[in-house]
Order: sequence, then C-alpha cells, then structure tokens
Amino acid sequence: MTEPYRHRNLDGSNIDLPVGKVVCVGRNYAAHARELNNPVPTSPILFIKPSTALVPLEMPFTIPTGRGEVHHELEIALLIGHSDGGAPPNVAGVGLALDLTLREVQQRLKKAGQPWEIAKGFDGACPCSAFAPGSRFSAIQDITFSLQVNEEKRQRGNTADMIFPVDSLLQAIGDHFSLQAGDIVLTGTPSGVSSLHAGDALELALGNNIHFSTTVLSAT
Ligand code: ZN
Repeated sequence: MTEPYRHRNLDGSNIDLPVGKVVCVGRNYAAHARELNNPVPTSPILFIKPSTALVPLEMPFTIPTGRGEVHHELEIALLIGHSDGGAPPNVAGVGLALDLTLREVQQRLKKAGQPWEIAKGFDGACPCSAFAPGSRFSAIQDITFSLQVNEEKRQRGNTADMIFPVDSLLQAIGDHFSLQAGDIVLTGTPSGVSSLHAGDALELALGNNIHFSTTVLSAT
C-alpha cells in the first residue's frame, strides 16, 4: 500500500488542507490545441479528476498497461486555499502536475461523443508536486515550467501563453463547480505531449529554481 496523498510544502511538511477534487482545463495553450488538431476554444473546456487520481509527483508512480498510450501533459497546478469570501478564490500554492491521459482511449471516446473520464480520471492519473507559495514568483502570469524525459526536452511553457489566464479561469470554473479549500486546479498543458513508458526518468522545473524529479515504475 502506498501512503495516501496529502498536499505538501516544498520542504515536505504537510499543508493543513483537505484533499479535494481536481478541476482541469483542456486546451488552454493554443499550440497544444493545434498539435492534437483541435480548434482553439472560446470558453474553457472543463473536466474533473477525482481525488483518487492524486499521487505525489516526487515518488515513483505507475501508469496503466494494456489500454494504449499514456501521455504526459505537464501543467501548472494551483492549490485552492480558504476563501476570504471574495472571488476569485484564494490560491494557496503553485505546483506542477501531470495530467496523465490514456490518449487512445480518449480519442475513441471523443469520436463516439462520450465523456473522457476513464481516460483521465483513473487512479494515479494526477501525479502532483509539493506547492510553493505564490510569493515565490514575480507574477502568476509569468511562470516558466518544463519537463524533460530521459534528458530529452519534451514540454516547455510559460503561463503568459494561457488562453484563459488564472483569474478568468477560476471565475469560469466557479460558474459550474464550487472551488473549496484543498481543491486543485490544473491550468492546461503547453505543446509537446508524448507517451510515457516504465523506466522513464522525469525532470521537472517550476520557475527558475524549483526542480522535481521522478520515475515511471513498471506499470500496474
Ligand atoms: Zn491537460
């Protein structure tokens, strides 16, 4: 048995917030929409991963087998804090997450006009890092982030390129789902999504000086 997922600070200490849902946005970077031949959206495409999708990114994680390609989507993750009653909700931390996607399953479901949930919401589908305070960054809309797999650059983004920036994204989410303290928002992936395999070594960078590394275990 692995330890249950908890929100963590960069020093590994626990953040005193419950673990809630993960609200995600599809196609929030135009170059990624284009690479999958999808139109650039005019309002955010939202979906939810259950809390059972969360696992700590810094620990080796497993990916499913026998269900086709598993793609990494590197995304900035926002931890929602206690609300002071105002909108948009308070962001308690900024981290990195992988929106793991069973791409072949997703394409099949999309074609059939069916929901994506089983392609993106499976157990372990959201490895999520520790969170840095927002004050570590000069501006939320100017954070670079990147992913290397086996020393090969795969994804590189800057939050300046979001189609729906954080404030408008949180507002749009609030029109459909209440964000509660301990929920996480994934803010979309830049281009460069690709498949993961057992044994892959991942290096992730958040801003100029926060780094995480992890590996993909033999699959379950
Ligand atoms: Zn995504």
